[in-house]
Amino acid sequence: MSSRRRTLLKVIVLGDSGVGKTSLMNQYVHKKFSQQYKATIGADFVTKELQIEDRLVTLQIWDTAGQERFQSLGVAFYRGADCCILVYDVNVRKSFDTLDNWHEEFLNQASPTDPKTFPFILLGNKVDIDGGNSRVVSEKKAREWCASKGNIPYFETSAKEDYNVDAAFLCVAKLALAND
Ligand code: GDP
Ligand code: MG
Repeated sequence: MSSRRRTLLKVIVLGDSGVGKTSLMNQYVHKKFSQQYKATIGADFVTKELQIEDRLVTLQIWDTAGQERFQSLGVAFYRGADCCILVYDVNVRKSFDTLDNWHEEFLNQASPTDPKTFPFILLGNKVDIDGGNSRVVSEKKAREWCASKGNIPYFETSAKEDYNVDAAFLCVAKLALAND
């Protein structure tokens, strides 16, 4: 009878500035993409409701307001996160190289009960650019990194072309729910 109760899950999105974090959220929640660079969505988080089997889930997805460029994100951002989405741009080597830092930063700031089993997911975004000809990080390299961090799930995405965005966030919701 109470199986249809709503579950609120907090998800945070981390990665270098410009990799497409805000765009992925916008595509997922509003089905919109903008070429224009917007550093902020003007809110701390957006929400999206979905049903997973008999559970009604509200994903509360927290975005940065661009402060990832120059300052730390603060405890409120990390507090109580149920899943952490890491994003890099497959065309920008540095955004892949900094994943270690973001991963570590999350574990330090959020200090989850069990860091070894806390659910992360990695998204390699902007696979649409130049038909993939300008990519500098191979899928193999990305999967190796995921394996080295305890088998983090990996998706290649395009916020622009809405490629794999729903699939990635469904995986996020399932991971967060399992961790709740
Ligand atoms: P954030 O700083 O990580 O939030 O990145 P944004 O979402 O603001 O995106 C930075 C820029 O990359 C913007 O100009 C977006 O339009 C563009 N962008 C984001 N995702 C994609 C994508 O999948 N493909 C392409 N071609 N451009 C993207
Ligand atoms: Mg942003």
